[in-house]
Amino acid sequence: MKSPFHVMIIPTLGCPSKCHYCWSSDEGSPRMSIETVREIAEWLKDYQSNQVTITFHGGEPLLAGAEFYRQALPILSEGLAHLAPTFALQSNLWLLTPELAEILAEYQIPIGSSIDGPEEITDAQRGKGYFAKTMRGYEIARENGLEVRFICTFTNRSVKEKETIFDFFLKQGFPLKLHPALPSLRSKDPKEWALEPEEYGELLVYLLDRYLDNLGRIEVMNINDLCRGIFTRHGTVCTFVDCMGTTLAIGPDGSIYPCYRFVGMPKYVMGNVRDRPTAEDLARSKAWKLMHAFKDYVDQECAGCAHIKYCRGGCPYNAIAPTDGEVRGVDPHCVAYKRIFDEITTRLNEEIFGSGDMEMGGFGSPFVRNTKPGIMAILRTMATK
Ligand code: SF4
Ligand code: SF4
Repeated sequence: MKSPFHVMIIPTLGCPSKCHYCWSSDEGSPRMSIETVREIAEWLKDYQSNQVTITFHGGEPLLAGAEFYRQALPILSEGLAHLAPTFALQSNLWLLTPELAEILAEYQIPIGSSIDGPEEITDAQRGKGYFAKTMRGYEIARENGLEVRFICTFTNRSVKEKETIFDFFLKQGFPLKLHPALPSLRSKDPKEWALEPEEYGELLVYLLDRYLDNLGRIEVMNINDLCRGIFTRHGTVCTFVDCMGTTLAIGPDGSIYPCYRFVGMPKYVMGNVRDRPTAEDLARSKAWKLMHAFKDYVDQECAGCAHIKYCRGGCPYNAIAPTDGEVRGVDPHCVAYKRIFDEITTRLNEEIFGSGDMEMGGFGSPFVRNTKPGIMAILRTMATK
């Protein structure tokens, strides 16, 4: 199965928010010029021929301002019309104005934003006032017909409030997509907020149960992706496929990286759009070779794992960034992935092949299978969308 081609444009690594566990923002980061956007379009035009999804990411991409998007979107959509580009944006929404929302709505750009649960929990992790500012932007987005989905970062502190957080998303009618807080490589204490892999695994199992108890009333995107991956034997999000080559990111100065997570780290630069590198040119860079060394490592190290087809060793950034670019292991979240993959697989097998999971029916009826929704119900729900 061919993975879709995804390009992330990072107009700046700057961000007005100061989330405590952030690992990616950089106050001194330059802003991308429109000239660089033109260079991106010129380069991508001949780089490959598949449909392309372009995500504006950061830092905070809205720092680039309305004029940037007013010019950049037509340059990309018209210049790359033969690649049928679709767009997306990842933003905390603080800087969303009605003017910007109108521009984004013209291109039907779905927005991914971030809140970590109710106001007290979000502000404790992301700084006072974060929640109110994001919700203001959310209202503007909705008024302009933009679709917004929130990512919820679970830290080692907020995981203790998982019930409250789940109930908040349920009550608000928001789909839930979670991210585990990663060790911040720029902090003196990288693990201060990071969610330990064991806790992450237990959190996923907890969310699976809560999801099943509330099926039809909420969507837990990670659980959907995991179930779909197991069922189709192929990952459906970047973490669980060989992302190298199918995802690229472009920093503010036109430098090309394997993914947005590496932007701003000079050793991971593979080329620059102004030089119009071909895939073969990028393949000669150290960063490209490193990503492929990770893939080869996974083929060897995970060969005996039942989940290798739809896990692929997890995220290469998680694996190689903390070791300063050396492949010494797979994604440290392996423990969590195994925990949830095992749990879903066991339940799915029980549902399909039977497990004695029966309950007493009514008077006169024989034993009947437990009617509590299971993994098949999640898969069915997804199939009807
Ligand atoms: S490096 Fe990680 S986050 Fe980036 S595209 Fe690959 S799997 Fe996704
Ligand atoms: S669960 Fe762990 S061992 Fe299995 S494929 Fe994923 S990273 Fe490798």
